[in-house]
Amino acid sequence: MDDRFEDVGGDVLQLAREIQEGYFPENEDLNIKYLFDLKERISDGRHVLGRCQRTNDVIRHFTKGEVKDLSGYQYIIYLDKLAYLNMSQEDKIRLIRHEQRHILYDPESKHPYKIAPHNIEDFIEEIDINKQDFSWLSKNAVIAEALYCQAKEEQKKKGKGEQLPLRKLSIRKMED
Ligand SMILES: [Zn+2]
Repeated sequence: MDDRFEDVGGDVLQLAREIQEGYFPENEDLNIKYLFDLKERISDGRHVLGRCQRTNDVIRHFTKGEVKDLSGYQYIIYLDKLAYLNMSQEDKIRLIRHEQRHILYDPESKHPYKIAPHNIEDFIEEIDINKQDFSWLSKNAVIAEALYCQAKEEQKKKGKGEQLPLRKLSIRKMED
């Protein structure tokens, strides 16, 4: 079977919990599923490092049993596994915080689970937090591209039919 997604490990969940408690305590009651995406994704010519998606009624129904309050997962945050594993700790935090900032929970609304677009005020705060390193996103997108290139090369050498060795890669970190 060709699995595209993988559950993240306890270390990612722990980090995500800490970021949420620190920056978005209002999202405390939400159930967010974190998944590693093993497939390279490119949008507008740039490697996608993460995504945040709200779920629908069906997914919430099917995931009822997985969470304590029986309401299922309201959001899914995808992290590109290869890119994430090769990021600095600081950039991992930036990425998870960026994706969590897309969560717009509006309990008063008929459709309470919304996604915040990039052009709203909240993201100005995100830009402000990142002011020491504006380029973190594009820098990591370029690294991701290099990593996938390397993985493809290694796969070619080893022959077809083998999975990308997502864990084994070692890449020189680009330093600023
Ligand atoms: Zn975003």
